[in-house]
Amino acid sequence: MTSTDQRLAPLDVNWEAVEEEASDWLRRYIAIDTTNPPGGEEAGAQLLAEFMRKEGIEPTFYDAGNDRISISARLPGTNSAGTKPLVLLSHIDVVPAEAEYWQEAPFSAALKDGVIWGRGALDMKGLGIMELLVFALLKRHKIQHQRDILYLAVADEEEGSRFGMSWLEEHQPELLRADAVINEGSFGFGDLLGKRGLIFGVGPSEKAPLWLRLRTKGRPGHGSIPHRKNAAVWLTRALGRICDAKQPAQLRPEMEVTVATLKEAGVLPADLDFKNPAVLAQAAESNDLFRALLSNTVTLTTLNAGRKHNVIPAHCEATLDCRLLPGEDVDAFLQDLRGIIDDDNVEIETVYRFDPLVSSMRNELVEHIEATIRHEVDGGVVLPMVSPGFTDSRIYRKHGVPCVGFTPVLLATDELGGVHGHDERISTENLKLGTRLLLDTVRRAAGV
Ligand SMILES: [Zn+2]
Repeated sequence: MTSTDQRLAPLDVNWEAVEEEASDWLRRYIAIDTTNPPGGEEAGAQLLAEFMRKEGIEPTFYDAGNDRISISARLPGTNSAGTKPLVLLSHIDVVPAEAEYWQEAPFSAALKDGVIWGRGALDMKGLGIMELLVFALLKRHKIQHQRDILYLAVADEEEGSRFGMSWLEEHQPELLRADAVINEGSFGFGDLLGKRGLIFGVGPSEKAPLWLRLRTKGRPGHGSIPHRKNAAVWLTRALGRICDAKQPAQLRPEMEVTVATLKEAGVLPADLDFKNPAVLAQAAESNDLFRALLSNTVTLTTLNAGRKHNVIPAHCEATLDCRLLPGEDVDAFLQDLRGIIDDDNVEIETVYRFDPLVSSMRNELVEHIEATIRHEVDGGVVLPMVSPGFTDSRIYRKHGVPCVGFTPVLLATDELGGVHGHDERISTENLKLGTRLLLDTVRRAAGV
């Protein structure tokens, strides 16, 4: 047990006012379209800077060119020289939205019945604003903390971080010197597998991305005279084989921690034996989230083939979004994939790869989060899990800095579907809850 495993001294915070303030700033932030590509994060960074300056904090901008701007601000600790900073990380960019499928326009930031709608509400302008409020509350309430606290909001997370975190790694390496990082990577579940609960996911580890492009080049021709060198046929056959192939389910030590916690919380039956291969396979088969946590995944995301109804295309392309479990061997995975495709007419290009890291499922930050939930949420459960998505945490982890994905809001299953999907939204109640729990965690982690 750490010395901070106690209830912290209460603060005189008007949480209703914080909820309103967080809601106003999040709506302004969402209304700035930072769809990546192209990103255009500068306007988002300027909004964050406006907030900082209002609090008497001068931010620092980092310009990677072409309006790809990241921003940081620092709250000095009482022992800056003797400690490393705690980083509150977020990204400014968002993924594109297919507006025609949304109930509210994705950049309208509509507030209806206590819910804010818009692209980025969850991924991740919402957490960016909660972290901002925590930053401000620490200063307003003159809370003593030993470590510096670094607020860092970056560009280009959604397209591989070349103009964001990877650019900073190269040009501002001092930002990588940190004690620990709180970032996106895990949400809380108001219901999970059909069971209601107060389950706060934390992500001390994550899967790694491997983005591939498949290409076929064949012989063009008239649609009326089919031949055997049709690039579209080669590509679709390959894709059929890839999508039919089952990636085997495997129970890694990381997932054993998750399963044990779900059993303790009564979400999974105590006698369910995941070491039994049939049970494991059934779990991966029946639940999308479990499949993502138990196996490498290969997802077909784009197809580009042919221009005209009666013309055989000369070349075709598809992209695959593969996500690999911690510790997987990327080259061996690629070799397996080549075996599954089993056709030399299909060329595989690696668009982006990041070799999967193994991170401990326990670190000090996870312990601080557990203390926060124990003291602040009656009946709350902390669920350590490998994040199925990848985040900028991977760049800090590469430098040995422990990171935790922690967005402490409680979502229903259909709300989770908004991440990279349609109808992304967050309740103002969740903004308040998340800010309260983050403040408590940051006070513990920054050394009160
Ligand atoms: Zn994100």
